[in-house]
Amino acid sequence: IINVFNLNKSFDTNHVLKGVSFQVNRGDVVAVIGSSGSGKSTLLRCLIDLEKADSGTITMEGKDLMKDGVYASQNEIRSIIMKMGMVFQHFNLFPHLTVRQNLELAPKVVKKEKGEAMDMRCEKHLAQVGLLEKIDAMPSTLSGGEKQRVAIARALMMNPDILLFDEPTSALDPELTGEVLNVMQQLAEAHMTMIVVTHEMSFAREVANKILFMNDGIILEEGTPEDIFEHPKNDRTKEFLSSIT
Ligand code: ATP
Ligand code: MG
Repeated sequence: IINVFNLNKSFDTNHVLKGVSFQVNRGDVVAVIGSSGSGKSTLLRCLIDLEKADSGTITMEGKDLMKDGVYASQNEIRSIIMKMGMVFQHFNLFPHLTVRQNLELAPKVVKKEKGEAMDMRCEKHLAQVGLLEKIDAMPSTLSGGEKQRVAIARALMMNPDILLFDEPTSALDPELTGEVLNVMQQLAEAHMTMIVVTHEMSFAREVANKILFMNDGIILEEGTPEDIFEHPKNDRTKEFLSSIT
């Protein structure tokens, strides 16, 4: 569903992505792990066009977002990224809108959706994350875990083919982390394709079927959870894993 080939991205003289290549198949849950500054967030941001890469190829569902360093037209880019949802570390809910309004904003604006069908989808996705009773709440009255579950429901409102998560639980107290990971695990079991940047090694190990270990702007090692956690090949991978467990 996603193909990335030889992706490069610099911020001025800081070469952050140094030829990243990988593939995501439909239904994959890919965990991206690696130390701070290795380029994980930049990679996700390039996939969803929040950052422009400098060279390489990004293909999503057979359509090139960028091919050999040349970007598609604005309209094509829009239609490609419309099939992707992203959940950030800091929720990014609109504070002045209710939960329902947060969920319905993008469908209304982007897809000109309205009425009962949209309301029913809103209720369905809130129920899916266990928060139907918060439909009229303001974000400020929710816990961090609840905010993040609302952010996931909001992403689902656009019927994405793939969901990207950038450290969705690292701003949460440990006791709230589990409720968010549970929702993500349910999505995985429902065969949602996901790329998850995470420091939660138990999630990576138990829920992901593919692990990408990023180090200094490249994918240094990739494989199944068993490959990476039980039989890491690279010394740097071993060092990273022993530093976080
Ligand atoms: P972390 O685990 O801390 O989130 P990361 O792997 O997500 O780290 P990135 O956020 O992708 O790392 O950052 C990689 C490098 O790119 C860092 O050196 C960072 O300072 C730099 N960088 C990221 N975003 C920008 C930006 N908008 N402008 C300039 N430099 C940036
Ligand atoms: Mg990051």
